[in-house]
Order: sequence, then structure tokens, then C-alpha cells
Amino acid sequence: MTRNPVIIAGGGIGGLATALTLHQIGVPCIVFEAVREMRPLGVGINLQPNAVRELFDLGLTEEDLDRVGVPAKEWALVGLNGNEIYSEPRGLLAGYKWPQYAVHRGRFHMLLYQKVVERIGPDAVRLASHVTGYRRSPDGSVSVFVENADGSTFEAIGALLIGADGIHSSVRAQMHPAQPPIHWGGAVMWRGTTLAKPIRTGSSFVGLGTHRHRIVFYPISHPDPQSGLAMINWIAEVTLDNSEGWKQHGWFRQVSINDFVHHFEDWIWDWVDVPALIKRADSVFENPMIDRDPVPTWHDGPVALLGDAAHAMYPTGSNGGKPDHH
Ligand SMILES: Cc1cc2nc3c(=O)[nH]c(=O)nc-3n(C[C@H](O)[C@H](O)[C@H](O)COP(=O)(O)OP(=O)(O)OC[C@H]3O[C@@H](n4cnc5c(N)ncnc54)[C@H](O)[C@@H]3O)c2cc1C
Repeated sequence: MTRNPVIIAGGGIGGLATALTLHQIGVPCIVFEAVREMRPLGVGINLQPNAVRELFDLGLTEEDLDRVGVPAKEWALVGLNGNEIYSEPRGLLAGYKWPQYAVHRGRFHMLLYQKVVERIGPDAVRLASHVTGYRRSPDGSVSVFVENADGSTFEAIGALLIGADGIHSSVRAQMHPAQPPIHWGGAVMWRGTTLAKPIRTGSSFVGLGTHRHRIVFYPISHPDPQSGLAMINWIAEVTLDNSEGWKQHGWFRQVSINDFVHHFEDWIWDWVDVPALIKRADSVFENPMIDRDPVPTWHDGPVALLGDAAHAMYPTGSNGGKPDHH
């Protein structure tokens, strides 16, 4: 007897973690991913202890996570006078049974991809396959419409469809055609990574500045034993007037450091030199902080939304690696 697989739209962190879980419980699945090639994109993302617990249950190990990140030890807020306002321990040091990991999003994503290919096989993730919509069938299954990179299309039959296709989700757009457009709250983030010596505990998240003008930085790799340098993820953020909406092109673009470093010019203390940290980055990306209004439901019969497709969250407060992905 053949069983229709569960079809997953989107091979991001949520889609791949779901594929690993389905495989673990013996449910066949296939992932359709729009990009032509998997590449280690993104910078830092935090995996909270409840997300790490799920990854350990999937058979990922501390050694796996130590290759793509570092256990977080502390969360600290510092004012513009350079003095600490508040700090608290994180992960195991905070009494959780599982660590919190600060990881490189792209490397972590590639780790999940490698596990999916090893466990389910090279055809488990079909690249260059853009899910455009679905149709519910009277027998309870679902037809999923897919467009290849060359523009040709095909239809796949699934027992279920999981829309894990991110904040611009096509599955969500069909499920909720009246959803309002993405909105921008006025904050702009510039993100990058720089090799530098980790400060404080050696694995501290530091939030420096005010609600409308700040930089957050934390290491996302263990330090190199020779140089002592680790990969430091930083997010510089300024809140602007958003009365006219977002005027730039797109939601994610590479920018020049000179476009924004002036916002942080005099942010120099004896324990951190913010302009130097920013200027030594390899490349910098600009993201307006965007959001979507909640939708009343995340499912439509055999179709369900997951991750950012269901409920995008601001990438602050370490919300990125949400446990409901699993
Ligand atoms: C390139 C990239 C870089 C990111 N960098 C960071 C970062 O540095 N820090 C951070 O905190 N968060 C980052 N994020 C967001 C973070 O990964 C997510 O917020 C979080 O992990 C939720 O994951 P998700 O699987 O729901 O969505 P995502 O990780 O966004 O994955 C969605 C996936 O679906 C694919 N897709 C989209 N539309 C379709 C479609 N119609 N059909 C098939 N596939 C589709 C996308 O290519 C993507 O692989 C990044 C996301 C992306 C896509």
C-alpha cells in the first residue's frame, strides 16, 4: 500500500526540523524548497533551551551544535553611560536542563539539511521548487501546486501540507487572502559578524543603548584556540520615522558600513569600541523590522502553517529558534 507523503513547503529551519521529526516517527515526507541551492545564509540566531531539548530528542548532539554555535552563558543590558543595568545567567547556568545555544543561522541550517539528506535521502528536499498554492480534495488529501525554476509546473498529492515557507508564505496567502500587508514598525536593523575577542563571561549577549537606538552583540562560535577570536554577531538598530512606510527596495539587502556607522560613531568605552566592531565586519545586511498581524487560524483541513508562516516574530529577545517548529 502506498501512502501519500506529508508535503512541507519551505526547507528553512522549521521545515527541515519538521522533516526530521516526521522521519523519526515513521511518516514519509517531502520538502519543496524554492531556492536552487542551499547556502549558509544569515547571521546569529538563538536556540532557547526548549528548542535545544527538541533538537536533542531528534538525535542532534552538543558536538553538532558546538560546530555551528556556542552555549550562551549570560544576558546583560548596558546603558549609554557604559554601565550595567541588569544581567542574568542563561541556559544551563540559569538552571535549565538543556543549554541555550547562540548559533550561526546559516551553519545551523546546513547542519539540519545534512541530517535530512543523511537520514531521509538526497531526494527528501527538492530544490528550485516553489509552492504556489493548494487544493483540498474530497478524500481528505491535498494537491500542492509547484513551480520549477524554468517556469514549468506540476501537482503533488500529499496526506497533509505544512506551510513552512516563511514570512512571505504563499500557503498563508491562500489560506488568508484578506490578510493585510507586512508592516514596518520604524526600526531598521543592520546585521553583521566580526572576528573579535568575546567579553564578560566569554559567551554573553550584551544589549547596549536604548529602546530606539541600540546595538546587541554576542559570540556565535567558540574562540579560536590560537588567536582567542570568536565570531561576534551584532545587530545595530535605530528607530526612524515610519509615517511614509518603507521606501527602500526589498526587505533584506547588503549595504555599505558607511551608510549607517555614523549612528554609533561615539559609542566607545574601555570595554567595547562599537564603531571598530562594525567597521571590521565582512559584510552587512539591512533589515527593516517587519511584522504581520495575527491570523485567526493556522490550519485549513489538511493544511497547516508553521514557524514564520504562521506567526512571524521580531528577531529580538532571542525569539528566532522557536520550539513550535518541531
Ligand atoms: C535567508 C534567511 C536568512 C535569515 N537570517 C536570519 C538571521 O540572521 N537571524 C535571525 O534571527 N533570523 C534569520 N532568518 C529568519 C529565521 O530563520 C526564521 O525567523 C526562523 O528560523 C523561522 O524559520 P522558518 O522555517 O519558519 O522560516 P525561514 O527560515 O524563513 O524559512 C522559510 C523557507 O521557505 C522557503 N520558501 C519561501 N517561500 C517558498 C515557497 N513558496 N515554496 C517553497 N519554499 C519557499 C525559503 O526559501 C526558506 O528556505 C533568516 C531567514 C532566511 C530565509
